Amino acid sequence: MSTLESVAQSYQQFNPRAYLQNNYVPPRADFTNEDSVVQWKLRCLADACATGEIAGQTLVDIGSGPTIYQILSASEHFEEVVLTDYLEVNRGELRRWLQDEPGAFDWSPYMKHVSKLEATGGTWQEKQKRIRERVKKVLPVDIHQSDPLGEEISGGSVDALVSTFCLEACSPNLDMFKKALGNITKLLKPGGHLLLIGALEESYYLAGEAKLNVVPVTEEIVRNALSDARYEIKKFKTYVMPPALKVGVDDVNGVFFAWAQKQDSQ
Ligand code: SAM
Repeated sequence: MSTLESVAQSYQQFNPRAYLQNNYVPPRADFTNEDSVVQWKLRCLADACATGEIAGQTLVDIGSGPTIYQILSASEHFEEVVLTDYLEVNRGELRRWLQDEPGAFDWSPYMKHVSKLEATGGTWQEKQKRIRERVKKVLPVDIHQSDPLGEEISGGSVDALVSTFCLEACSPNLDMFKKALGNITKLLKPGGHLLLIGALEESYYLAGEAKLNVVPVTEEIVRNALSDARYEIKKFKTYVMPPALKVGVDDVNGVFFAWAQKQDSQ
């Protein structure tokens, strides 16, 4: 049986480069194939952000890992963006990209693709520069604490949250998944928005030597957890993982996307 300690222990072996290789290059990130999972995720995020309803001062991405694709659209609507992760190896990977250092992961195919999706007229290089400028901090986070970002960012101060493949991937069971959702929700202002993406019916994934247990969730479980955390669900979409993208790095069956708004009365 997983515990918070065993989950934390398993992450000590997490290898950011292996994780990026497993999930963020072809075939999963195939920009010539509209049905690839990465294109689906980017489209969900771009469509929600194109409504103009998700905007404000501060955007926080919870459990960024070594990736930045998840903030490409939302970043355009906030003054400052904060990336966060539990592991220093991931925060280091993020800083390498932010500072454009040698060896950083190449997110330019994502930048080009999202620029086209957004069709706002600027170049992808301008978008990349803007994003690097807007990310003001890369902070440690622990979603299992009642104040996941400690004193750095206090409860009720954040306009919007993004979180992708984090809650189910680092909770030992469903109760802790729900509690973690409650913990991150406390960061949001009333009326604040959450863009949540995650794995459906997954029990593990690999990142180099690390095998990470995942809490298998269904659409119904995620919808109920959001309602219990006092969100109004504004959009919910699911993606079925095609057999060609089941490449032996996890046992995921699908992906969900939720756009939810924290209710005023909370
Ligand atoms: N957001 C990225 C993505 O979309 O690919 C990374 C998701 S990865 C599956 C899960 C991330 O959760 C890892 O980067 C890991 O370091 C982080 N994590 C592990 N334990 C955590 C905790 N207690 N609180 C917050 N994040 C945690």
